Amino acid sequence: MIGGVEHTLATSVQCTGIGLHTGRPVDLVLRPAAAGTGILFVRTDLEPQVRFPARGEWVSGTLLATSLGNGDVRISTVEHLISAFAGMGVDNCTVEVSGPELPIMDGSAAPFVYLIRQAGMRAQSRMRRRLVIRKPIEVREGNRSVRVVPSRSFKISIEIDYAHPAIGQQEISSLRLTPERYAREIAPARTFGFLKDVQMLQANGLGLGGSLQNAIVLDDQSVLNREGLRFPDEFARHKLLDLVGDLALLGLPLQGHVKGVRSGHGLHQALVAEIRANPGCWTVEVPGDVGPGRAPERPRVPRLIRQTG
Ligand SMILES: [Zn+2]
Repeated sequence: MIGGVEHTLATSVQCTGIGLHTGRPVDLVLRPAAAGTGILFVRTDLEPQVRFPARGEWVSGTLLATSLGNGDVRISTVEHLISAFAGMGVDNCTVEVSGPELPIMDGSAAPFVYLIRQAGMRAQSRMRRRLVIRKPIEVREGNRSVRVVPSRSFKISIEIDYAHPAIGQQEISSLRLTPERYAREIAPARTFGFLKDVQMLQANGLGLGGSLQNAIVLDDQSVLNREGLRFPDEFARHKLLDLVGDLALLGLPLQGHVKGVRSGHGLHQALVAEIRANPGCWTVEVPGDVGPGRAPERPRVPRLIRQTG
């Protein structure tokens, strides 16, 4: 998935959905972008428009979702779309959003994979750079951790453990992602939340767009969605989807084996910051070029906030 040349979309595509927190409609337009651009978000509802690159130093919060921002101006819930770009091998894209958060769609990345496939992909002339892990890097918070170790390819493992009868312990081990496998096995996995948290959020004016149409919702005993689960381990698959999106904020595809244990957005972003802060542990490589690791800018450690789902 990470070799070869960079890719962008063949054409522009758009959709409309509701924001998870505001409950309001928001328009999303994905446009092809030049090689070397990366993923660039644009708030088109502001005058002048405000732009954020999808990179770790722009992360402004990880509570409930990953937000990019600068001061008061934010774009929230970016991780599922960024995950879809990374999973499908889209390096460069301009993402126009008409509000402060991306549409939640069905709570998974499948609608974004559908959009990317509808647009089609175009190969570009620049070779795809990759960040190759040379020494292990780990971040830990109590019994939760995420680490990356050297590997000949990109592999990902995730372990979750919820004291809930419908979830329990789930594990995905050493998954090698291809676009086809991402689209089929990971992208459809939905985000999940607990009824008591949803009620608390809504009492505080958040999660107003949240419903059984865009999340798996659980009470103390079971899954409330009438259609049930899309996979027996949909929860672990969604955590893996989130991890792929959070890692993409490195700005380069990663070569290494990433292992998350009970991890969430906060810890994933702490790993991204830790990688950026330790350029001696990795190198950036272009096919035919082996150079020393270089941190593009001074890393900023994002705030670590408890993550809830
Ligand atoms: Zn998620």
